Amino acid sequence: MLMSLVPTDGSPLLIGGELREGGGGRFPTVNPATEEELGQAADADATDMDAAIGAARSAFDTSEWSRDHAFRAHCLRQLRTALRDNLEQLREITVTEAGAPAMFTKGPQLEGPIDDLGFSADLAENYDWETDLGTAEPMGIRSQRLLRREPIGVVGAITPWNFPHQINFAKLGPALAAGNTLVLKPAPDTPWCAAAVGTIIAEHTDIPAGVVNIVTSADHTLGARLTEDPRVDMVSFTGSTATGRAVMTSAAATLKKTFLELGGKSACIVLDDADIAGACSIAAFSVCVHAGQGCAINTRLLVPRAAYDEAVRVAAATMGGIVPGDPANPGTVCGPLISERQRARVERYLAIAREEGGRIVVGGGRPAGNDRGFFVEPTLIADTPNTATVAREEIFGPVLVVIPHDGDDDAIRLANDSPYGLSGSVWGTDPDRIRRVTEGVRTGTLGVNGGIWYSADAPFGGYKHSGIGREMGRAGFEEYLETKLVATAR
Ligand code: NAD
Repeated sequence: MLMSLVPTDGSPLLIGGELREGGGGRFPTVNPATEEELGQAADADATDMDAAIGAARSAFDTSEWSRDHAFRAHCLRQLRTALRDNLEQLREITVTEAGAPAMFTKGPQLEGPIDDLGFSADLAENYDWETDLGTAEPMGIRSQRLLRREPIGVVGAITPWNFPHQINFAKLGPALAAGNTLVLKPAPDTPWCAAAVGTIIAEHTDIPAGVVNIVTSADHTLGARLTEDPRVDMVSFTGSTATGRAVMTSAAATLKKTFLELGGKSACIVLDDADIAGACSIAAFSVCVHAGQGCAINTRLLVPRAAYDEAVRVAAATMGGIVPGDPANPGTVCGPLISERQRARVERYLAIAREEGGRIVVGGGRPAGNDRGFFVEPTLIADTPNTATVAREEIFGPVLVVIPHDGDDDAIRLANDSPYGLSGSVWGTDPDRIRRVTEGVRTGTLGVNGGIWYSADAPFGGYKHSGIGREMGRAGFEEYLETKLVATAR
């Protein structure tokens, strides 16, 4: 291992500019492909979280950080450069700790989000922080109105393990660009991904002490402290819908802004004028990427009833050909699930699928030849309605459900008949029909005929139980801003 970024006997916390131990001692971080302990991470306790929030509050209230746009742009670009300088170590950490297939570290698992810090830096530099609304005479008083955009203050960022860098940087970049200070509480499964960034910030950037604080912990309830503390102005959360609900409920007591990126059960709609085999093969492949641990993955495949058998055959052939394996192997698409707990969750859903009468066409178990590692076979479930548990609930594994539809309106109805509304895709040839379907589906992003919506300048987020607000793009940056209107009598 290359690991000079994280000491294997205990990666540090970053609090008030200091790299330090946690009050709770240390906790292990595990390679999900081998089940071996990689090493230890600092286990923060409530006192550490208190100090981190205090440091962020003080840095916001007493420094020029929130006012010096050019300096923030400089710091973000400096961070991007330092991350790029340490790319191979970060890649190794990401592959071994998150079980992320190495090929995706060249994109959204690592290099993409690092590059995207440049988008945030550009916004810090070029954003219209003030807009002259001109004069008006409300109540007969002639007034000159100035609209100002200002940072919200202290942001508590709580993140999951599936795309650790993508999600950490999609919060850190815009939050800092907007002039906020931050406490990041990463998932207990991926502490090193965050701790390595903390070390880089402390040792290779001019980001002032207290502006970024990184608090790793085995204890989930430490995240809850961020939602409760009155010194925190906003919580930016990505994770499951159940936890998001708890975050929002808890944040209500102090009336914090809550920004939520939650779960999904997105549909891939194949219209009857599409290349059915091509579309189904791509949908089947996509659900295996990173073992299906992506919130926006299309896990329901809606196909014309007349083409159902063909769709099942093609999807099964594709999924049957994808062998889960070592994420460090450059050819691996489907690595392990993150933990024993997550594999048990996926296996529980496969049992429910069988109990409810679903047909497991391919997969359904653990791959042969992998004694170690939290692997599950890519699994295709057919003959199950949209009302089945596996069609309604987020599984977060390489599991695809194929459901027949009876035309475009029925496909829209089925896609929308879900508590979630995160993403989806449409395949077809008639532009008018495609437009109607994309207008009808109630989700935050949609790909048409393989179009990719993921990009630094494109907002991402969900309708319904998939979240509140948008991450990335200009909209994602503006989530971290307050609006102030100053009226001067003329
Ligand atoms: P999770 O909800 O279990 O945990 C997410 C984070 O919340 C972790 O850091 C955890 O420690 C923390 N947490 C747990 N309980 C908390 C509480 N009561 N108060 C505050 N924080 C608390 O999610 P996970 O299992 O880590 O991640 C998988 C989930 O994340 C899936 O549901 C997936 O869809 C979702 N996700 C959504 C997006 C998106 O952008 N919409 C992106 C990635 C993942």
